[in-house]
Order: sequence, then structure tokens, then C-alpha cells
Amino acid sequence: AAAGTVDGVPAATRARHAELSQDLDDHSYRYYLGTPVIADAEYDTLMRGLIALEEKYPQLRTPDSPTQKVGAPISNDFAAVEHLERMQSLDNAFHTDELAAWEHRVTGEVPVEAYLCELKIDGLAADLVYEKGRLVRAATRGDGRVGEDITLNVRTIESVPARLDDSVEPVPDLLEVRGEVFLPGAAFEELNARLADDGKPPFANPRNAAAGSLRQKDPRVSASRPLAMLCHGVGAHEGVRFTHQSHAYDLLKAWGLPVSDRTRVLPTLTEVHGYIDYYAEHRHDPEYEIDGVVVKVDDVAIQRRLGSTSRAPRWAIAYKYPPEEVTTRLVDIRVNV
Ligand code: NAD
Repeated sequence: AAAGTVDGVPAATRARHAELSQDLDDHSYRYYLGTPVIADAEYDTLMRGLIALEEKYPQLRTPDSPTQKVGAPISNDFAAVEHLERMQSLDNAFHTDELAAWEHRVTGEVPVEAYLCELKIDGLAADLVYEKGRLVRAATRGDGRVGEDITLNVRTIESVPARLDDSVEPVPDLLEVRGEVFLPGAAFEELNARLADDGKPPFANPRNAAAGSLRQKDPRVSASRPLAMLCHGVGAHEGVRFTHQSHAYDLLKAWGLPVSDRTRVLPTLTEVHGYIDYYAEHRHDPEYEIDGVVVKVDDVAIQRRLGSTSRAPRWAIAYKYPPEEVTTRLVDIRVNV
């Protein structure tokens, strides 16, 4: 091997890869705690740098690389909870050609009749387990396999039922349901005003506020912050069969779980683009912040056939909107963490 080259990778490149990986891991952990020090767009740029390095030197793409992992390891602040089914992240598309490439890969393998379009809520993922219709456990995503037990905090969220409603549809024996927890805009403004009155530093954005509020050791503090949730997926389930993702949402709604009424089933990528363009113009209509649109294959049988990587399903993609006012947000974040 050439001097300074190990396994075909120059030493300087290997060092750059290690440094970038460590930085991304650190940023992930801070983000997870609700105290990031860089803007999301900056994180995405660092991640793209790492992806590019690994495309050039695939031998650097080890299972512990940030490109292959979900989230961050959990802290010692809460009990560890193993998810019944792995929680994943999403692959990103930053341009329409990346969305087209995704569709091309998918339809090259199997014909798709319908796409489900949803808003990508900028909150934090939570996993709820209902046994015989009763909420028994709630956890953060963590590293996708193990999350933190936040059951008491989630019980304070008004829109999350402690018991599923069985008056319209029979409830399943087991239901693991996933969604995004967020702090609505008005509640975020109020919380920051309250913190300012108390001489405490405000949160830089609703996502950080939601993360900080959900991971409170004292559930009374969570209760004083009106968090909300919208469901966007199911994990393990027994005693029910979902044919389509949209069908699952209909049932979740019947059981009293919160689902978004902005979700649409659309036949082709042309309509999907229409949805993306509409919300690019109406980004601030919802009471929560969005950072993009999630496009999913609606048919569950096709989802299974497409499967997933170690990090994300192949049947879904997040189309990310360009960041708004990156510099202002950066300054805010640095001042307010
Ligand atoms: P992600 O946020 O890009 O996408 C995956 C997540 O989106 C899912 O886990 C789910 O919780 C959420 N989601 C919201 N709406 C959804 C919907 N309708 N359907 C399905 N899922 C939905 O990926 P990630 O792995 O959670 O985090 C990576 C992203 O987080 C980065 O791209 C960056 O924007 C941000 N981040 C920022 C920092 C920082 O320091 N600023 C650090 C780490 C991560």
C-alpha cells in the first residue's frame, strides 16, 4: 500500500471521516436533548459531506457510521425501553430530481398505484404501546432500537388517549403507534414569554421547546406545556390488519388517536409535486413547524416488498424545503441554548 494509506484510504481522509462522524454524533445527541448548537441545514450539509466521502471510499461505510444509524444513544435520565419494532429515520430529497430518482427506483421494482403525502412535522418522534386498548408505555425514538421511557410525560398530552375508543371499530390486542410530538406555535410563544418573565432563557424554536418539555424529569412541568401529537406510522400490531397506510390512519382516527387532516392519497408524482408546491407556499398554515413533505407508498404489501435499509424505509422519502433564514436561526440558537 502507498505510504499513509490503509485499506485503500489515505490517512488524512480516514482522519477527516472520523472527525466528521464524531461531530455528527455529538450534534445528534445535542439535538435529541433539545439543545443543538448548529442549524439543521448545517447538519444536513455535514451529513452530505460524509455521504460523499463514503461514496468515494465505501470501505468507510461501517455500521456505526452516522450515515447508517438512527438518532442518538439514550441518556441515563430515563429508563430504557426496547421498541417492539425498530423505529427508523427517513431518506431525504433536497431537489425534485432526487424525488424523481426515488420514484424511478421504486417503480422500477414494483408498480405503484398511490402515494401518500404528509407534512413532515419538525417535532420529535414518540412511540406509544396500547395493550387491549390501554396506553401502557411511551418512549422516545432513541437509537431506533432502544428509547427512553417517557410514559408519564406523554400521559399529560391531551390529544393522546389513555384508552382507545372501541365504539366505531374494535380495538386491536396490541398496537404500537408512532408519531411526532410538537408544541403548537401559540403555546411556544406563551412558554417563551413565561420563561422571559421568570428571567430564564427562551427556547430558539418550537422543536427544541418540545424536546425539552417532553424530556422533563418532573411530568408536572410537561403538563404545564401543552404539547400535541400527530401519528404517522404503526409498528408492531396484533388483532388488526392494515392494507394501506391511509387505511391505518382511518383506523387510528376511529380509535381516537390524533392524525393529520392534511394528509392526501395521490396517484402520481405530478400530483405529489402539486402537494409539495402548495405547502411550500402555505408553510405556515399549520399550527406546527414543518421542514418538508413525506411521500410514502400507500400500499402496505408494496411497502413490505420494498423493505428498508439499516436506517430508513425504501418506500418513503422526505422532501425537505430549503431552510428559512438560516443565519437568523443560527444566531438565535447560539444565544438561546
Ligand atoms: P428526519 O427528521 O430527517 O426524518 C425522520 C423523522 O421524521 C422520523 O423519525 C419522524 O419522527 C419524523 N416525521 C415527521 N413527520 C413525519 C411524517 N409525516 N411521517 C413520517 N415521519 C415523520 O431524520 P432524523 O433522523 O430524525 O433527524 C435528522 C435530521 O434532524 C437532520 O436532517 C437535521 O435536520 C436534524 N438534526 C439536526 C441537528 C442539529 O444539530 N441541528 C442534529 C441532528 C439532526
